[in-house]
Amino acid sequence: MSEIPSFLQVAKEAGMLAAHLCREVQGGSGGAMDKNDKSPVTIADYGSQALILRAIAAALPGHSIVAEEGSEHLRASAGEEGSAKIVQLVGKALGKEVDFEQVCAWIDHQGGKETPYTWAIDPIDGTKGFLRGEQYAVAIGLMRNQEPVLGVLVCPNLPVDLSQPDGPKGVLFAAAQGDGCLKVPIDGGESQVVRVSASADPADWRVLGSVESAHGDPQAVVAMMEALGIGGGFVRYDSQAKYGVVAEGAAEIYLRPRSKPDYRENIWDHVAGVVVCEEAGGLVTDTDGKALDFGHGAKLLENRGILATSGRAVTDAVVSAFAQTV
Ligand code: AMP
Ligand code: MG
Repeated sequence: MSEIPSFLQVAKEAGMLAAHLCREVQGGSGGAMDKNDKSPVTIADYGSQALILRAIAAALPGHSIVAEEGSEHLRASAGEEGSAKIVQLVGKALGKEVDFEQVCAWIDHQGGKETPYTWAIDPIDGTKGFLRGEQYAVAIGLMRNQEPVLGVLVCPNLPVDLSQPDGPKGVLFAAAQGDGCLKVPIDGGESQVVRVSASADPADWRVLGSVESAHGDPQAVVAMMEALGIGGGFVRYDSQAKYGVVAEGAAEIYLRPRSKPDYRENIWDHVAGVVVCEEAGGLVTDTDGKALDFGHGAKLLENRGILATSGRAVTDAVVSAFAQTV
């Protein structure tokens, strides 16, 4: 039997703990966050990474880790107050006292080298969205032999029902290769197996992109939409929540044009989302329609941009329209 389902359980539990810490920092159950202050993101980023890596180190110590943050920067930037706050938040999440050195050791956990398994972790993806009080995601992906096989995305601010933006918020997407994709409301409620949209008519297609224009090229996205006669609208979200929205069938296309010639995507910005989207029936390639190649360390060196869709026919249409417009 595959070991992946047990790994998925570890990732889900770690993602939930981390997401609650992020929520607490953002003001979900405490003081409101000062949006002009960068320290909340520092505190939540490091606290989230500490909780996730602690869980993986405890359950799967031999697995290798690639994660966005390192304690060196934390030591230099958090200050006394920030460090104390992280220790307090991590301790509270774990229900026991921890010290700063312990937290730093978890943040820096790299695991083993002789393993087919590598985790790609972004403790807060969409930090700009987090600071704006909008979308962000705790992203936990796993690769086996450099191929994505597991993804957990916790999106604390994503409406449980996207047609009711003012309704309850907070969903977890969990997917393991071959087992489909599950959407779980994080504050309780029924879980649901999700599937991508089956729409074949460009007039109905809906498109997603980054809020931050600098992370893509929104004009190129709009040009592609005009070329294909796409009529369902262009919605901009921060973070890998976009992969979840395609997975649950609420958009057909997530297009992320390369933002500048020398930009290469970080693997932790995509591994979890790729599995979530593809296990729901979607397809993730680069903007040339080429398969993503996760075999080059922390960056997608051999791919240009990202395109996630509800399936091959949509990908083919977008790739050819996009090629003519840029
Ligand atoms: P999003 O919220 O989808 O815009 O993506 C957030 C991620 O964009 C962050 O986690 C960064 O790793 C990544 N990022 C930062 N700068 C750029 C850039 N110039 N082009 C593309 N992605 C970027
Ligand atoms: Mg990120």
